[in-house]
Amino acid sequence: MSKKSSQINYKKIKYSSLLGSIVTFFIGMTLGGFVLILGYELLYSYVMESKAYNEYKDVTVMAGIYDKYDRDYDSADNIYNLLDEFDREYMVTDALNNVLMLKGENTCSFNGGTAILSNYPNTFTFYQDSERPALRLNKKGKIVINNADLNSKDELSGYEYTVTIAEDDNIFDENFEELNVSPDSFEKLINMPYWISVPVKDGSENLVVKCYFKANSSDVFTATLLIVGIGLILLFAFIAFLVSAIRGFIRYHRISQLYYKDDVTKGNNWKWFVIKGEQRLRKRKTARNRYAVLNLVFVNYRNYCVCHSIEDGEELLKKIYEQLQKDITAGEMCVRSASASFSLLLICQDDNSQLEMRINDIINHLEYIDQNHKFSFQVGVDFIERSMNPSGRPVRRTSINLDTEYNKACTARNEIADSDDSGIRFFDESLVQNQKWLEFVQSNQQKAVNNEEFKVYYQPKYDPRTNELRGAEALIRWESPEYGFITPGKFIPIFEKNGFITEIDHYMIRHVARDQKKWLDEGLRCVPVSVNVSRAHFAEKDLADQIRDMVDEAGAPHNLVEIELTESAFFDDKKAMVSTINNLKGYGFSVSMDDFGSGYSSLNSLKDMPLDVLKLDAEFFRGEFDSQRGEVVVSEAIKLAKNLNMRTVAEGVEVKEQVDFLAGEGCDMIQGYYYAKPMPKNEYEDRLSKNNE
Ligand code: C2E
Ligand code: CA
Ligand code: CA
Repeated sequence: MSKKSSQINYKKIKYSSLLGSIVTFFIGMTLGGFVLILGYELLYSYVMESKAYNEYKDVTVMAGIYDKYDRDYDSADNIYNLLDEFDREYMVTDALNNVLMLKGENTCSFNGGTAILSNYPNTFTFYQDSERPALRLNKKGKIVINNADLNSKDELSGYEYTVTIAEDDNIFDENFEELNVSPDSFEKLINMPYWISVPVKDGSENLVVKCYFKANSSDVFTATLLIVGIGLILLFAFIAFLVSAIRGFIRYHRISQLYYKDDVTKGNNWKWFVIKGEQRLRKRKTARNRYAVLNLVFVNYRNYCVCHSIEDGEELLKKIYEQLQKDITAGEMCVRSASASFSLLLICQDDNSQLEMRINDIINHLEYIDQNHKFSFQVGVDFIERSMNPSGRPVRRTSINLDTEYNKACTARNEIADSDDSGIRFFDESLVQNQKWLEFVQSNQQKAVNNEEFKVYYQPKYDPRTNELRGAEALIRWESPEYGFITPGKFIPIFEKNGFITEIDHYMIRHVARDQKKWLDEGLRCVPVSVNVSRAHFAEKDLADQIRDMVDEAGAPHNLVEIELTESAFFDDKKAMVSTINNLKGYGFSVSMDDFGSGYSSLNSLKDMPLDVLKLDAEFFRGEFDSQRGEVVVSEAIKLAKNLNMRTVAEGVEVKEQVDFLAGEGCDMIQGYYYAKPMPKNEYEDRLSKNNE
């Protein structure tokens, strides 16, 4: 999975666990609030309207009685007596609100309108009480408690209360709660007067009756019970949502742990390093710092695990991590990024040597982290420079890719990976070129073979006593359409690493055998040509058979092909090597030891290997060869070869004195610039023709 998509997935999981619970929490709370308000509203309408409707029905009954009263025949007392049964204050008014009849006190304000009861079909005319305007109509025609009245601090006769309530139309609940009144005074308080007016006498008069909104203690009890019930449901929902939110947070924390933590060191991991590192580098306050990204590799990790155990190895990695944590300062970062690799982000000065000293200190601490061992650590370093504006002032790094920078540090580290020792390598542009070259070689190697871009060059070997051509070495060159002429030093080591060298060796053997066959057919006096065979090849048991088959296929005699083995090859499986050499010799090929004297155990190899030719390494003839000691060594090496029945070839001989000396010592052949450089096939052909003469 790419860095990006894994990060996106992480964020998705993170936000689904976090956001999910937050969203449900808020939705739940909003819904709860909504239910609460709706509940109050319904309760309010229900209580207020049912009571008002009862009063209204009373009034209509009174109106029915009043309608039967005929002023012309009946005495007023009669109708008063009848209506007194209702125990109310009332009056009869004409259309202009002139009072025609009055029982009790007229405290009607005639201020009101049509009251609409949402739960009942009827409407009626509602008037506020002038003395105590506790109820009023709101804009929608609903009867509501008149907070303005409740807020008034005036002592109203018969109504004891102290209250301050926000201006709101229908906060029935709050009125109950905030009033904080004892049931006694409550009875009084909730006795809120208003007037209901219904038409009588065919609408020419109105019966206006003083009514009350009365809530008794059982009403209050029911209301309280309802409110408490709704409150409890809400509290329950709140707790449920809170629990889910907390669980979301815990899940988020666990996911972060999984995503950002390293199991082995218990510290952070590579993902954290990249994400947090980039965030850090982009900050304004870090713009003035120069940084170095480090790839630190514990070289001996695998060996350590083999000799001990994986658990011990991991324990050691943890110790290394802890030591590294001690060696870095605030604002710097360190994680274990791969099996035995650590990634560090250090702040550094412009002076690279200071950083080098610091890294050396870090390596020193780590090398002796276990008293019983000395370990090696290799470090690749890449710098992250400040980014500057045109006037040379550091500005925020807007685009930074820590992955890419770290990759450079790894590339630098790779350059020293062949060694087992501790070391530091700084990244520079030449490494990019190397990488590009490597990339080119790897992706073009097969094509180059197919197109015969590889050419065989021949470097003749001469007898120094007679100056006669006695042999040659086949050396490869690459005539690349893209890069032109390329010497083997630039690509052979790459092929040796990636295994393509076996293909190359086959290629060379086939071409040499074909050339020899062709020259023989042309009647030229051919001399043996040696071909280099890489040590990688010796892992193959049937190598001798392969070589024989290739040479046979070309039809060249075996004695015209010689196989050169480098000394380093002799470190490998000795038994297999001896058997391959014996097989080759059995088929009639000569076998030579290349670069004798350039390594360590040459003598030891000579003891075990039945070789035909000893090639003295060019190093013998470099620099201060004229020194007595050099001459003694070469002379003794030649004697040694003779005693082992081996021919000798001196490589890299460039001057006449050396030729004379070697002739004097009985060296069989010289391969060096003194006689000839490696040359293309046609030039070598000319030399062969001269040899014929
Ligand atoms: P080598 O096998 O030791 O080849 C001898 C190298 O010494 C050649 O370099 C040759 O040009 C150089 N040389 C010979 N005489 C002199 C001299 O007088 N002075 C100096 N300065 N150099 C001299 P070359 O051709 O560049 O090859 C380098 C190495 O590449 C070879 O070392 C060999 O290890 C490898 N190589 C070349 N061709 C092949 C090949 O076809 N197969 C394999 N496996 N390796 C090859
Ligand atoms: Ca060679
Ligand atoms: Ca050599």
